[in-house]
Amino acid sequence: MGDLRFDGKVVLVTGAGAGLGREYAIEFGKRGAHVVVNDIGSTQNGVGSPTKVADLVVEEIRRNGGSAVANYDSVEFGDKLVKTALDNFGKIDVVINNAGILRDQTFSRMKEQEWDLILKVHLKGSFSVTKAAWDHMKKQGYGRIIMTSSPAGIYGNFGQSNYSAAKLGLVGFANTLALEGVKYGIHVNTIAPTAWTKLSEKVMPPGSEKELLPAHIMPLVVYLCHDSCTENGGLFELAGGLISKLRWQRTKGAVLREIGREMTPEDVKENWSAVTDFSEADSLNSIDELSIKIGEAIARIRAGD
Ligand code: NAD
Repeated sequence: MGDLRFDGKVVLVTGAGAGLGREYAIEFGKRGAHVVVNDIGSTQNGVGSPTKVADLVVEEIRRNGGSAVANYDSVEFGDKLVKTALDNFGKIDVVINNAGILRDQTFSRMKEQEWDLILKVHLKGSFSVTKAAWDHMKKQGYGRIIMTSSPAGIYGNFGQSNYSAAKLGLVGFANTLALEGVKYGIHVNTIAPTAWTKLSEKVMPPGSEKELLPAHIMPLVVYLCHDSCTENGGLFELAGGLISKLRWQRTKGAVLREIGREMTPEDVKENWSAVTDFSEADSLNSIDELSIKIGEAIARIRAGD
């Protein structure tokens, strides 16, 4: 199927028993990958005996002629997930950090356990699985990693302070891994999807289930994980067929310091409109570019401009 084949590649998808992860796993299976289908979840089967959702996805991949095995461990134990890939297929090429849950609550009602659990599954879980795969990818000089962020992390969302913190944490995590991994052929990209799934159905606009399908998220994830894709360190927002790349913007800013005079809070107040004016905004690509901007400002101060 298609030009973007994954024959011989080993792909681990976390939380692949339902929603977005299931969509990715089935597609990678169709495109020739060996797929590790991870999920801790189960479903009621017939008269009530639980069936592991990962098994159902593995069966579907095999029915389509593909190759897959299940793993039922929580993403907190990343070494067990990666071991399943190594034991069955001998290597790990692609990790899609996708597993997730919600514990929504306004901040004043939020309990510390709800904060900790969300950070444990999303941020620590993605750390744990990525950490277990990293050195194998380094050694083989190849890897593709996806982090799953959220518009809630980028923009904030009422009642999701725990989830927002974890999801934006993943963007920072990916940004640094993209720098550290590139010389070993490891590319790390982040998606911020919106789709109708079990996780999101309560907050989706009524009637949007046919417009916001997991099938609209899958194509970007598959492309980002392909050999032919050179993208690294990108953040993409996507839903319903629209895909956009995001970046930070910064105002031109205002230099408030002068030689021979203390810089004060009143200076900040007086110059607030210049500090926050986006009319001449730009966008930096690295911390080194920020250092250059800071150096230029200091040079101007020293020159008395
Ligand atoms: P979903 O509930 O349909 O699927 C998530 C799967 O993860 C479930 O099958 C669940 O059993 C599994 N899971 C939960 N905790 C796990 C753990 N500790 N270890 C292994 N598996 C675990 O949800 P979805 O909408 O497909 O979400 C997938 C990812 O996308 C999540 O990270 C979610 O935060 C993110 N996301 C989704 C949306 C959306 O609109 N659906 C928006 C932004 C971000």
